[in-house]
Amino acid sequence: MGTDMYALVKEQAGPGLKLARKPRPEPGPGEVLIKIRKTAICGTDLHIYNWDAWSQKNIKPPLTIGHEYVGEIAALGAGVLGYTLGERVSGEGHIVCGHCRNCRAGNGQWCKDTKGVGVNRDGAFAQYLCIPACNVVPISDAFDEDIVAFFDAYGNATHTALMYDVVGEDVLITGAGPIGVMAAAICRQNGARSVIVTDLNDYRLAMARRMGATDTVNVGREKLEDAMHRAKMVEGFDVGLEMSGSGAALSQMLSLMRNGGKIAMLGILAAGAQVDWNEIIFKGLTLTGIYGRRMFETWYKMGTMLEAGLDLSPLITHRYHFTEFEKGFAAMNSGESGKVILDWSEEA
Ligand code: NAD
Ligand code: ZN
Repeated sequence: MGTDMYALVKEQAGPGLKLARKPRPEPGPGEVLIKIRKTAICGTDLHIYNWDAWSQKNIKPPLTIGHEYVGEIAALGAGVLGYTLGERVSGEGHIVCGHCRNCRAGNGQWCKDTKGVGVNRDGAFAQYLCIPACNVVPISDAFDEDIVAFFDAYGNATHTALMYDVVGEDVLITGAGPIGVMAAAICRQNGARSVIVTDLNDYRLAMARRMGATDTVNVGREKLEDAMHRAKMVEGFDVGLEMSGSGAALSQMLSLMRNGGKIAMLGILAAGAQVDWNEIIFKGLTLTGIYGRRMFETWYKMGTMLEAGLDLSPLITHRYHFTEFEKGFAAMNSGESGKVILDWSEEA
């Protein structure tokens, strides 16, 4: 084995990524070195690739990007206990301080000093990744490797979908991106009465139906009220999961919730997005912001829901070797994609 590796790097401000040779990281005390086997491309990676306004503000090149991955433990830093070489792992992508009020209360997802793998420090689109041992998550060999590659995004979907009790409830999911579509599958598996998914993209709505949505609505040309009627709903949606980041979608959701309904907000809204606040007040709605996933309760549920039969495989639409990463980002940019998997094995 050499001491350097391939990595997908944002070398300087501007669009695109470069497949570069970099020194392989060395695990310091308390750290674990992971040999990456598969990664998945997240919407965040696409923002960084395209160098949009958010990336220009938040990303400091040079940076190896990527935070959705599965691999195996390649080396343990000094003092690391409880893991074995070769063990299959993924990892929590938020590196938290461990001593702020939320961290100490077991709410690491709200850490005041969180650092994102592949956002604020070198990430997983590389042959090796180094992270603190406490972020490493052992993963059963029973799960398909390509699905484990996007456990990070599955965690966002899980945390949001399980925020409120959905048993017997009518659920509205706005946004049929990979996360919205996974949330639809989770709500179905967990006993929702109906799961109606909206988007403007027919390819993605078809994906939502394959993953278990009871109905879908292209809000560009169809009325959500018609789908509510088909589902024989009487008072409006009980639970809303906002997964589009569109102010229009959130406004529509607010207007169609029943009194006392509950909304979990994952989608990241544009600055200045406006809603009718009085919908929230007069309907007595509860809104909760969702960031990341619970550490590590969400990871536990992700494994056990798969064991209980949740099938995420219809979501994978593209697979490439890492040397063909440009094709993967093009698929993501086309809008006609679910999860795009990159294989990090040596042989092309
Ligand atoms: P995505 O961009 O792939 O999917 C969003 C979907 O919303 C797209 O398919 C788009 O066509 C659709 N959409 C746009 N306008 C709409 C409208 N008016 N009504 C219905 N749908 C509409 O995103 P994703 O990767 O699935 O992630 C979902 C959202 O969650 C994104 O906003 C992402 O930034 C956010 N996110 C937040 C966190 C967090 O920690 N809060 C973590 C991950 C992702
Ligand atoms: Zn903290």
